Amino acid sequence: MRLRLPRCLVDASRMDLPPADSDGLVGVQLTLDGSRVASINADPGQPPGSGLALTALVEPHAHLDKTFSHAAFPNPEGTMAAALAANLREFEVRSAEQVRERSERALQQAWCYGVRAIRSHIDSGGGAASEASWEVLLEQQRRWADRITLQLVALVPLRFWLNPEAESLARRVAAAGGLLGGVLGPPFGHAVEDARALRALLQHAARLGCGVDLHVDEGDSEAGAGVALIAREVRAMRPGIPLTCSHASSMALLAPGRIARLADQMAAAGLQVVALPRTNLWLLGRRHGHTPWLRAQAPIRPLQAAGIEVAVGGDNVQDPWYPGGDYDPIELLRLCFTTSHLDPWQRQGLAPFTSAAARVMGLPWDGVLRPGCPADLVVLEASSWGEVLARPPRRRVMRQGVWIDTAWKNGPAVPLPS
Ligand SMILES: [Zn+2]
Repeated sequence: MRLRLPRCLVDASRMDLPPADSDGLVGVQLTLDGSRVASINADPGQPPGSGLALTALVEPHAHLDKTFSHAAFPNPEGTMAAALAANLREFEVRSAEQVRERSERALQQAWCYGVRAIRSHIDSGGGAASEASWEVLLEQQRRWADRITLQLVALVPLRFWLNPEAESLARRVAAAGGLLGGVLGPPFGHAVEDARALRALLQHAARLGCGVDLHVDEGDSEAGAGVALIAREVRAMRPGIPLTCSHASSMALLAPGRIARLADQMAAAGLQVVALPRTNLWLLGRRHGHTPWLRAQAPIRPLQAAGIEVAVGGDNVQDPWYPGGDYDPIELLRLCFTTSHLDPWQRQGLAPFTSAAARVMGLPWDGVLRPGCPADLVVLEASSWGEVLARPPRRRVMRQGVWIDTAWKNGPAVPLPS
């Protein structure tokens, strides 16, 4: 199979490959052995216009329990407060059947786009909807195991971890192989209480050996206060578990020197970051009657410069927190080229959607092609990054050495008016 791939997605130790072109691509010939890549050889003489390929994609931050609820629970104001209010109304009536339908549609779409792994947060604050969501999504995790790796995170207010019922939730999540999560400001609670709740969470995670993924600093005020607290507590406590800061948006509003110092502290604590620019740029920085000038999103480049692994996720898809989205990381890449200056021809521009996302999720394969790795590819109908950015490219998806049927199973198409 002759392909042009980003050089950063082919084994860095391969000195025999030609230099990458101006799009960061190299021509290679892949041979497969069943579901695996058998060999990778230099193939510099590919005709212009041959397809641009990536390895299978990763979605490091989703909400499969509430996805596709926007039509019934819209958020026309586009504010955080209205999103939360609609989310809570929806949560009160959420059923197992709804979670099954929503998650099935999400997984099916992601599969067709070439996604191999998803990390989803689940509203877990208690009640029938939490129980139903965990039951259904664990069932989906089993059903989809050979197609999409599904990681599940218990999403609760941070203070929940001080409650007596925290122990039972933590044990159940750990037994199911999940991660512990939470929401840490803004608005922040009492600083001492927040620190106590965070320590309680870290103690549960350390004792049970499960990872942590927190929604932190999803706001445009009190810049970086949440990630600063996490870095401080983790450095003091050394829980020895992977900890992801999702959002980390408000720290972008600090002065460059303070961002760099805070990033160094986060790196020293071993934190990872999932940036979620699409949801942030829609919900945050709203000032009545103005076009936004406060652009609160994780400062991806300074975080990378400090040595922190940074992934980009889609976050909310068609729910009160974001009315669009579709589980397509290529669309997210196209968006973030503009919103976050992630140039896909640069290693650090592409990594948040590929290898860094795989490492943040702790997947067994980082998405870099080496002999013996899975034959999992997404081949775009585009010969350059310019073409990918110009229009949504059609694609072919190979999983375990087989081209998959990428037609959605979404029911009948809506007929056009005559
Ligand atoms: Zn989220």
